[in-house]
Order: sequence, then structure tokens, then C-alpha cells
Amino acid sequence: MVRKLTAAAALATLAVSCAPETQTPVKVRALVRSSDGQYAPLEVELKTVTDIVALEGTVIRFQGGANIRLDSRDPEAQAATTDEALERALVKEEGHRVTASYIADEAGVLWPADFHTWNLVTTYYNFERAWDYFTTTAEVKKEELPQTTVYYFPEFVLADSSEKPQRDNALFFAPTRSFMVLPFETVQKAPLAINASILTHEYAHLVFNRRVYDGRGIPEPIAAWTIGGGSPTPGLNVIKSLDEGLADFHAYVASCRSSFGCNTRVLDSSFEGRPVEDRDLSQNWCMSKELRDLMFSGNFSVFSGREYQVGTILASALVKASGSDADRQVLARAVAAAYSDTNPLKYGLNQLARNALNRQEDFSLGAAARSIVQHIPAGNVDLKQRVCTRLVTHLQLSIEELSAGQDACPQSTTTSDACPPIAQ
Ligand SMILES: [Zn+2]
Repeated sequence: MVRKLTAAAALATLAVSCAPETQTPVKVRALVRSSDGQYAPLEVELKTVTDIVALEGTVIRFQGGANIRLDSRDPEAQAATTDEALERALVKEEGHRVTASYIADEAGVLWPADFHTWNLVTTYYNFERAWDYFTTTAEVKKEELPQTTVYYFPEFVLADSSEKPQRDNALFFAPTRSFMVLPFETVQKAPLAINASILTHEYAHLVFNRRVYDGRGIPEPIAAWTIGGGSPTPGLNVIKSLDEGLADFHAYVASCRSSFGCNTRVLDSSFEGRPVEDRDLSQNWCMSKELRDLMFSGNFSVFSGREYQVGTILASALVKASGSDADRQVLARAVAAAYSDTNPLKYGLNQLARNALNRQEDFSLGAAARSIVQHIPAGNVDLKQRVCTRLVTHLQLSIEELSAGQDACPQSTTTSDACPPIAQ
């Protein structure tokens, strides 16, 4: 027999079972993609939740009904000189805590009692899994990933492009240092927050922001390298490509721990057709002369959208270089370690970007790729070799650049015939 409970009653039940607050782990049902590719109401454990009704815990807290507006003409935003002031200027209404309702079954497992609770619980679960992946597999310290706000179904307006609130997205938004799960409008398939790969990709943007950008709302390299007038923005083009590609790589590695298994198609199940195929990491992607030229000499206003193409070439090269669980773990750690390292013999992306603030062309794809290689432990000789071959082949990088420096690629690195060479 299934007993219907309001959220308050569910909390009361948990309270009488002897703890003053939500006891973890909490057994709940969430929409999880099973091995046959279908989403099913699976029993899962939330290990970090401290309030099952407000769905708040170590990893995230939800805020419903917020109003967030980005408008370059907003005097309050223009006047903001700190990240905190900018955040206050953009969040016009903070909103309120959410209230989840459950039905407890005889075994005490909580079943979401309405649509939003299914969506909220699944979102919490997906973020918790992403956080678990980063803090265990990728070895990012828990202190670096404190509780983050998720604005749930906010009114989010990007006023410079449209007064119409944004829809159909789940995103990390650096200026408010939070995630947003937006209302749906046209997405007919799995809502984005239900899609574990998409949420892991978004969580990866948070990790990148914290390590590469020091957690800044407006990162210094982005501010320094964004220029108008059609001038080349090679550094900006590269760092945006890294952010997207490495987020897809992490989403892939994290998926290998899921009931669905390794997922090379981050957007699959929420989108279909070209957008999914264009980011499929199992395909053989190669840097073209046209794309490379645009990355070097295009302004981001023109390059925008291509960061996914460059990112996919990078991520698929890393996926192809790592064939086992052990390889994937070593490489995921190397990527996360390469985000920031103050050792001048093998600077991380943070330090490479910082040193190139006034000369963005110095922040090159080759220098960033070399940093990743340098963070693969020296003992992993075969993996390092395979990563080097894949990077120089698929991204068309110079072997000299990748083999310069401590723990970099072996000078014996060669290209493979996976991609036709393009003129240097
Ligand atoms: Zn992204």
C-alpha cells in the first residue's frame, strides 16, 4: 500500500526516526537513464541532502521564483565594482526556497508526488553525482566546491538580445555564480536537468570557473581579452574552447560510472539529429585549416559557436586516448590538475592565462594541451604517449611545442593517420 504524505508529513516521519534533521542517505525515486537508454523512476540515495523538503544539502540549494536580468544599460550593474555587487545587481528578486512533496512507500522510499518534485529530486541527484565525480574521480578538494545556488525556473532575461525570458536550458552562470534550471517551452525530449550528462557538463563549468578563473563572476582573462572592432581574440577563442571541450570530456568520464554506461553523446536524449551528432565524442574529429585560421585571427563575435567544434575535437582526442577505467581516471585527474598549477615548470591554465593577460595570443591551444600532458604522472608512459599522439594529430598541434618542458610529450611523438595533415 502506498501512503500519501505531504512534504511536511514526510519530514515529520523522518524526524521521529530519531534525528532532528533529515537523515542521510535518503532513499528516493528519481528519473534515471537505465542501460536501455530509457528514463525510469529508479531508487537512488541522496547522500548529501540536509533538508529533503527544501532539497538543500552540501552540493546545492534551490531557489524558486527568482528574477535575474543581465542588461548592459542597467546602471546598478554598471556601477558594480565587485563580484558581490554585480551579483546583487543582476538578481532582481532572490525568490524563495522550494517545497518538495513525497509519497512514502512501505519500505520508506520517498516517491516524488508531483512533476516539480520529480524534476527537483532528479536535478539534486544529478548534481550530487557530478560533485561526487569531481571530488573523487577527478580529485578536486571538497572545500573548492561548496554549496552552490540553483535558481529553479527563474525569470531570466538577457536584455541585450531579447526581453523575452530565456527557456529550455540548464546552465552555469558565472556572473551570479549559480546554476539555473529554466522553464521548458519547446524541448520535447528529456528536460535538460534530468539529463545527467548535461548537468555534469554544467557542473564542469563551475569547476573550471573556480580553478581557472579563481571563481570570479567576470573572469579577468575574459574581461581583458574581449575586444570589439573585429580584432582577433585568439586567447578568448581558445579558453572558451577549452571550457566547453573539457566539460564534455568530464561528462563522458563521469557517465562511465552511471547505470546507462559511458555516454559519448552529451546532448543525446534531450536533443536529436545534428546538434547531438556534432558533439559525439566517439567520432573522428580533425582540426581544419579554416577552423584554425578563424581561431587565430577571428574575433569572438565571429568565432562564437565554434568553441564547441574545437572543444569536441579536443574532448574526442582525450576519449580516444583513454580506453580503460584506470586511464580515464588518470586523465580526468590530469585535466583537473592542469586547471591551476603555480609550478612554473608546468603552469596550469589559470597561470598561463594570467601571464597572457596583455598578450592573448600567448594563450595558445598548444600551451594548454601541453599543460594537460604535463599533469599526467610520469609513470603513465603509455597513456601519455597516446594522449600526445591524439592531441598533435586531431588538433594539428606542433610536436615541438608539446614536447617542450618537464613531463611534456616525448620527443619521439609522431602523428597518426587519423587526420590528414593541414599546412602549418
Ligand atoms: Zn557548456
